Amino acid sequence: MIEKERVLNNLGSGWHSLIETAYAITEQLPFCKDVYIVERRHGMMRVIYSRTDLTTPEQEFILKALEYKFERLTAKICEECGLYGLRRTELPETKTLCTKCYAIEYSKLHPVPSLVANQQPQIV
Ligand SMILES: [Zn+2]
Repeated sequence: MIEKERVLNNLGSGWHSLIETAYAITEQLPFCKDVYIVERRHGMMRVIYSRTDLTTPEQEFILKALEYKFERLTAKICEECGLYGLRRTELPETKTLCTKCYAIEYSKLHPVPSLVANQQPQIV
């Protein structure tokens, strides 16, 4: 089982309402009491529920459908701000980001050289 607070700290706030939903589901399904793992994987949110209380194949089917739904939703939701996003595979770790958040992330990796470094002595 992974603590919700830890997941909220590890993943961007654009996904926080989905993380809340992932945990709230464990309070509604009697055969699903724990979230086993929530992580970023290939730029999407992977949720895996604990299987210890399953008694029928239908319950497994329901959990798989829920896990798949979280993955598909987060392929289109910016992890940072929650707006429409795309998977950005050019980053060191693939993330789903909107254009603005991607630009911020990209500029962190490719800083613009300081103007001071480009200045030549001035000839009067
Ligand atoms: Zn964003």
